[in-house]
Amino acid sequence: MAKQTLIVIGNGMVGHHFLEQFADTPAAADYDVHVFGEEPLIAYDRVHLSEYFGGSSHADLALGTAEDYAAKGLTLHLDEQVTELDRDNRKVITPKGEYEYDAVVLATGSYPFVPPIDGHDQAHCLVYRTLADLDAIRASAEGRKTGVVVGGGLLGLEAANALKSLGLEAHVVEFAPRLMPVQLDADGGALLKRKIEELGVQVHTEKATTAIVPGEEARLRMNFSDESHLETDLIVFSAGIRPQDTLARSSGLEIGERGGIVIDDQCTTSDPQVFAIGECALWDNRIFGLVAPGYTMARTLAARLNQDAEAGFSGADMSTKLKLLGVDVGSIGDAHGATPGARNIRFNDEQAGTYGRLVISEDGKKLLGAILVGDNGPYDTLLQYALNGIDLPANPESLILPVSEGGAPALGPDALPETASICSCHNVSKGDICGAIDAGCTDLGAVKGETKASTGCGGCAALLKSVVDSELEKRGVEVSKDICEHFPYSRQELFHLVKVNGIRTFRTLIEQHGKGHGCDICKPAVASILATCWNEHIMASEHVPLQDTNDTFMANMQKNGTYSIVPRIPGGEITPEKLIVLGEVAKEYDLYTKITGGQRVDLFGATLSELPEIWEKLIAAGFETGHAYGKSVRTVKSCVGSTWCRYGVQDSVGMAIQLEERYKGLRSPHKLKFAVSGCTRECAEAQSKDIGVIATENGWNLYVCGNGGMRPRHADLFATDLSDEALISTIDRVLMFYVRTADRLQRTSVWLENLEGGLDYLKEVILEDSLGLGEELEAHMQDIIGTYQCEWKSAVEDPEKRKRFREFVNAPDKKDPVQHWTTERDQRRPANEIKVEMV
Ligand SMILES: Cc1cc2nc3c(=O)[nH]c(=O)nc-3n(C[C@H](O)[C@H](O)[C@H](O)COP(=O)(O)OP(=O)(O)OC[C@H]3O[C@@H](n4cnc5c(N)ncnc54)[C@H](O)[C@@H]3O)c2cc1C
Ligand code: SF4
Ligand code: SF4
Repeated sequence: MAKQTLIVIGNGMVGHHFLEQFADTPAAADYDVHVFGEEPLIAYDRVHLSEYFGGSSHADLALGTAEDYAAKGLTLHLDEQVTELDRDNRKVITPKGEYEYDAVVLATGSYPFVPPIDGHDQAHCLVYRTLADLDAIRASAEGRKTGVVVGGGLLGLEAANALKSLGLEAHVVEFAPRLMPVQLDADGGALLKRKIEELGVQVHTEKATTAIVPGEEARLRMNFSDESHLETDLIVFSAGIRPQDTLARSSGLEIGERGGIVIDDQCTTSDPQVFAIGECALWDNRIFGLVAPGYTMARTLAARLNQDAEAGFSGADMSTKLKLLGVDVGSIGDAHGATPGARNIRFNDEQAGTYGRLVISEDGKKLLGAILVGDNGPYDTLLQYALNGIDLPANPESLILPVSEGGAPALGPDALPETASICSCHNVSKGDICGAIDAGCTDLGAVKGETKASTGCGGCAALLKSVVDSELEKRGVEVSKDICEHFPYSRQELFHLVKVNGIRTFRTLIEQHGKGHGCDICKPAVASILATCWNEHIMASEHVPLQDTNDTFMANMQKNGTYSIVPRIPGGEITPEKLIVLGEVAKEYDLYTKITGGQRVDLFGATLSELPEIWEKLIAAGFETGHAYGKSVRTVKSCVGSTWCRYGVQDSVGMAIQLEERYKGLRSPHKLKFAVSGCTRECAEAQSKDIGVIATENGWNLYVCGNGGMRPRHADLFATDLSDEALISTIDRVLMFYVRTADRLQRTSVWLENLEGGLDYLKEVILEDSLGLGEELEAHMQDIIGTYQCEWKSAVEDPEKRKRFREFVNAPDKKDPVQHWTTERDQRRPANEIKVEMV
């Protein structure tokens, strides 16, 4: 039987995806497939278009190659615009020829809408859609100073970032009263505006441009309806998109009232031989401006051409998670609470710069939508609650409130149903992932290859990894130790790369040994490795973007957005003078005061701008940071030992102080706790610590890798009757070996459990020096000790670093972001009961 001809018009993201889905199916054998693209370049990833300004080329962004197309038997016509669709004679016409068809797929995408402002069509008025557009912007920006983006939506902000990366002073002009009006509410938009302005992009909301005329100081002048104006060298319009339906329109296909090619659930237009997919298609009166729905349409059509009667497009989730100019923004489902009876929970922390809003059902059981600005940590979990109708916990506000450690409570992969959508770009469910694993995929890469999960916008990377890891573990498969998709290495391997190659910044590491821009998994891990290797200040400008909030501000953020401060008190020994200072500072700043389980004084309730002032006072009294915020040595607890106790056989306080002074500031994969007991009665509970020391008549017994917390583990006896010197050199080696070889966020207990050969092997390496590493480990530790600096002190003394805390000082009325306090047992504490606003 002679083959039929299928013509695909448009070689963009969705057209390309359709070909990928269709090419190897049985139906493809019945067709000669011709693809027409008006752009001269083969389909590329428009979602990551901005990376073109960061150095990526078309080849990096390309979704396939001409060879791939040829190998699949597809005939590609690039740089050939289809100018007419002649449905009567079933042919498409281009300037180069006429081609007959049996079926046509329109995948013509959309074009940027340029508002018909007087003067919008002159030179240096540009748009942001194709690589050619970006070339034009680059050329226009050459040697110039200012650029304006018209439109404060998703793409507008991305374009503003691009202008900034070209060295221009960037402005965003938005007609609406807030940025991203579609995704955000007033509070979210206001916070985003503030954050974006802090990053040096000037935002002008509620501005209607009336005309663009020649400028006096720059090329162009934008006149606004409020009589003000702005001069700029170039303007990028990003005021929305319009479906590219010209061909369909002129050929008489049914078009929506406001544009778009009308399709049914099978992507068929008003002509049964013509289909439409992607941003040009209008389904249920909606145009989808995201790639995921387009991909679903592409899959639907491929299935439909294979006579799959079940295949159908049924709409798409428009939730979005983005990092705009480095600011987290997330919007899920019914973000504006349009559902009748919907209720809201909002948490707005102006000080920390985070805003979270949950829209929940009237009965409080389901999540309908959410908005996040400043911290996308809870996004994946919230999305799962919303998409899968999972019952909310009794206290849903905990999903957006800051927690003291480890991020927002996550919905574990096991809690997700098989139908849970993990990757919305490629419509991959948890069930699909399980299916891929059951079919033989044994690592993340293979699952990605098989299902394409996380190969679209990449927003689901962390969730995918946790589902894959958990499912592989359940099947007894050893899980890949790759830290994340950006580095094909474990933490240990990254450590070696950093150390051996003398790498000092995240950027160099990812350029030389990774790919992409990094994520919330690899950035803090690399920050910790760099700190261990080079001990540079945690707030050195290269490192700041890598840190968690606690590390960034060198204090622990607590549940109401204020901070707690823990000065170091080695061995728990403190002079009355110092105690008085702690009391005075606590009184002055009205801080809640508590003695911790690790013999420290914890001061709660400081606002961000108060932190440096408080540190200064504490430093003047001889205190330094206790690193309570970091993955580092926290405390060395001690009993009073032989100095005071009748039973004590050694000076446990003296040893605790010595150990704490020695290891303070050491950055490690997880927090480290120590204790020293003066005799076997063990009052300091050393056997529940990472490093436990118990005095004997002859010296010290050393215990390693214990911990308290959620999964307690008794420490193992490692060496007995050690002298002071031997104790210290042994601890040096154990700690350094752990720091170098453990996984990210792996506590010593888990590290030991996973170490092949276990305790015996560790003893061989450390006590018998079986790997010949002993001296090197000790020398590295010595190096770290020699470069110690009190991070608080360096921060308050350096005006640049201090600025991070001062930005908010110029708004003194905002000093206390959470006005809801109550008094309990004579001290101030957050009033949990009214902290969250229910509307
Ligand atoms: C800067 C930027 C960032 C984005 N970020 C995201 C994001 O983070 N997440 C997300 O989901 N989406 C994002 N998008 C949107 C996403 O890129 C689109 O949803 C997707 O590209 C739509 O695919 P499409 O194939 O329908 O259209 P397109 O990719 O635009 O492809 C259509 C193609 O058809 C060609 N064409 C049109 N008419 C003709 C003709 N007559 N003859 C021949 N060829 C023709 C066009 O030249 C074009 O190459 C972003 C878009 C941009 C521009
Ligand atoms: S144990 Fe107490 S202090 Fe520690 S994380 Fe839990 S609630 Fe916070
Ligand atoms: S551990 Fe021993 S030395 Fe220390 S307080 Fe208890 S009994 Fe005294």
